[in-house]
Amino acid sequence: MSIPFPADCLLCRIVRGELAVERIVETGHAIGFMNEREALSRGHSVFFPKRHAPSLHEADDAALAEILVLVKKVARALGVETYNVLQNNGAIAGQTVFHAHVHLIPKWSESEGLVYERGRGRQMDQKETAERIRAGLGRSR
Ligand SMILES: [Zn+2]
Repeated sequence: MSIPFPADCLLCRIVRGELAVERIVETGHAIGFMNEREALSRGHSVFFPKRHAPSLHEADDAALAEILVLVKKVARALGVETYNVLQNNGAIAGQTVFHAHVHLIPKWSESEGLVYERGRGRQMDQKETAERIRAGLGRSR
């Protein structure tokens, strides 16, 4: 179970109004603001659930649903059609702020925004893993 509002969490401090950020949108369960400190491109914004949850799988469903809709609306408001939506969970996956959040990173040109290397994946048999996921979801094939 997640802790409602840890005192030292950066994003919880934004919820409480203790940290000034350039807010762009707020709903019942989520907030969106401009990433000003580490922006990868113009319009790089961050969306997060108001209720503290370290990772995506711990976040409220309602907040997650609102966040993707906000990402869509902000992308439209920006007038950007090429962009990345990034969401990291855990330190080795690149998460640095441990309150689940989603980045909208506009890609105005090839050199701007998120740059990642394609083709590093390994070919593997995913059938057994798919079975485990279906079992975990309570579904059979
Ligand atoms: Zn938090």
